[in-house]
Amino acid sequence: MTAMQHISVWLDVPLRGAFTYLHPQPLPSGQRVRVAFGNRELCGVVDNSVPPQALDEARCKPILAVLDELPPLPEALLQQVRFAARYYLHPQGQALFTALPTALREPRAVTLADRQSYRLNAAGLAAEPSARSTVQRQLWQALQQPQSRDALRRVHPQATAFLRQRLAAAHIDILPWQASPLQVAAALTLNDEQQAALDAVAAKLGRFGAFLLHGITGSGKTEVYLQLIARVLAAGQQALVIIPEINLTPQLIERFAQRFPASHIVCLHSGLSDGERLQGWVDAWQGVADIVIGTRLAVFTPLPRAGLVIVDEEHDGSFKQQDGLRYHARDLAVWRANQAQVPVLLGSATPSLETVANVEAGRYRRLVLSARAHGSARLPRIGLVDTRRLKLVDGLSEPVIAALRQRLERREMSLVFINRRGYSPVLACTACGWTSACKHCSARMVLHLSARQLRCHHCGAQQRVPLQCPACGNPDVQPLGEGTQRLEEALRRLLPEARILRIDRDSTSHKAAWDAVYQRVHAGEVDILLGTQMLAKGHDFGALSLVVVLGSDGALYSADYRASERLFAQLLQVSGRAGRAELAGDVIVQTNWPEHPLYLALMQHDFDGFAASQLQERREAGFPPAASQVILRADAPQYQEAEAFLQQVLALCGELPPPLFVFGPAPALMARLAGRERSQLTFESPQRNALHAWLRALLPQLDALARKAPRQLRWSLDVDPQEI
Ligand code: ADP
Ligand code: ZN
Ligand code: ZN
Repeated sequence: MTAMQHISVWLDVPLRGAFTYLHPQPLPSGQRVRVAFGNRELCGVVDNSVPPQALDEARCKPILAVLDELPPLPEALLQQVRFAARYYLHPQGQALFTALPTALREPRAVTLADRQSYRLNAAGLAAEPSARSTVQRQLWQALQQPQSRDALRRVHPQATAFLRQRLAAAHIDILPWQASPLQVAAALTLNDEQQAALDAVAAKLGRFGAFLLHGITGSGKTEVYLQLIARVLAAGQQALVIIPEINLTPQLIERFAQRFPASHIVCLHSGLSDGERLQGWVDAWQGVADIVIGTRLAVFTPLPRAGLVIVDEEHDGSFKQQDGLRYHARDLAVWRANQAQVPVLLGSATPSLETVANVEAGRYRRLVLSARAHGSARLPRIGLVDTRRLKLVDGLSEPVIAALRQRLERREMSLVFINRRGYSPVLACTACGWTSACKHCSARMVLHLSARQLRCHHCGAQQRVPLQCPACGNPDVQPLGEGTQRLEEALRRLLPEARILRIDRDSTSHKAAWDAVYQRVHAGEVDILLGTQMLAKGHDFGALSLVVVLGSDGALYSADYRASERLFAQLLQVSGRAGRAELAGDVIVQTNWPEHPLYLALMQHDFDGFAASQLQERREAGFPPAASQVILRADAPQYQEAEAFLQQVLALCGELPPPLFVFGPAPALMARLAGRERSQLTFESPQRNALHAWLRALLPQLDALARKAPRQLRWSLDVDPQEI
């Protein structure tokens, strides 16, 4: 009797190690299997790079089934997951199952579309059905040419039975899948900057290189992507294109489909059924598809012939996963490109400060598209309305109302952008500009009205709300960024004849609702478009003659140090909506802080100037990207429980070795969520590797501590957090 093999298997459970199971034969890494775990059956994935535990056979369970309808998962994917789990301090089994399509997470075999074709061989041709069985004859005739299973089913629904019978009789040759011919439609003639960008990336094909393609909306970035992809495909390689969910519109898919045959393109997004997602994923993995366009999760799609990685709108917040494996798709995309030794191109009009810093450090190369590729549209004029000495009606100033009324009379469409970020209010003095900065760290303190307190979310410091400005004595100290709630009502009352269309989360989460919005806008049925963040994305609403920005001040001095970066990106994006085609557009920002550097840079359309000053601020404050952060969050029904756990962690940490720092416990910015109170510890260091290594070493003790914590306590680690 041969001894059973001990085999390491990853499971989707919150434990950091792999599990050991028994099987009569060795199994390859990446093999999916079904195993018993507790009283459940789970899907597992074999990993021979992990030494199995030397357990007694009696204490080990056998593998129940080998799910081998697909080849084993590729080694490159296992490596990517290993990296992600290590970097994001997450259990590797859970990371692996995050990366897989839902259908592959189940302990069941999957069914896939049959991509092969079938043709009668000599024996099959000889075995001619009798003239009376017309269906059989029909199918037999069709099979004299290669036929896919689907095509054959269209000949007659009984095709499946016929095929089974003839396959069993060895009357049929199975032919491998054949790619449809790759015909690429004519491309536009690139302008000089586009050509330079294309050449720079093309020169790196076959090697790693990271590029930022920095150009405003309409500067022709997508055209550069398309032409690069054409080159990659011509070389027999595949391209991966990661984009924000909201940008994965029919228009974009259409542009790709016009250039490349649709059969070569796979789209992976959240609107797909599990089966569709699986099929697209497998098609990419098996090399059936050459172009993968997808959202965040698509960064894990296996590509055997990867040639190029593109991340469009690389600054977009939706690339960061906010639960489970909290990965950043852009960062993993860069890692993947390096792993596969192919170039990666990050596109944006408003790159993230992380990427700008990488350009400055020489790690990424910046390629600039400085003008609109098409048409003569000029940049809009951006003006400020200083509200300090104006009387506001429900938050609206007279110049703003007059401008809206004027467009209404001219039958031109306006857009009102209401910034609702910065809702955790910071106190500010209306006279001297003092804001409630923390005395103990570089963060700003947040007003907690119920407790009549200011609290620092970063270090946890607290103080009473001052009755007057500590700097100048002015008694008019106000929370910033409030008062946007009534704006819509006020607009409807002040401009009763205007047809106002509000765009909110509901109208963008369903495709049908979104289409309805588009239709109304393009049919000229809307005078004023009203909305929040949603409007800042790259949607084409046609000719807008005026963009009004309200409530943006709250982000200037937010407790969230990323608020200004987001605001600037959004304002530049919404401004880009004004003045398309031949219509010169106007942007009006209503503000209490007209001399703020952010607005001054905005008026000049000066992203570089803004980014430089922001980076400088971050460096002085020691915030990312000048430092790395890891947040340890805990939540529980009572704040004390969450905080008590973090106090124990703090005790466990002891003295941190320099240059590592820990702040907190402090309430999270969104201190209460879904009936739970949230507290957090922030670990920081200018040396990322040292910080991560130290935390990695702490994990076993941290896990042990968490096992002793009360049942209702939940905790998580967030590496490179985007939300604080
Ligand atoms: P972005 O991706 O930067 O928003 P696009 O690639 O979508 O820019 O280009 C904006 C518009 O300009 C599109 O209608 C596109 O067809 C057109 N365009 C892009 N490049 C050129 C070019 N070299 N010549 C003419 N038109 C172009
Ligand atoms: Zn003051
Ligand atoms: Zn503080």
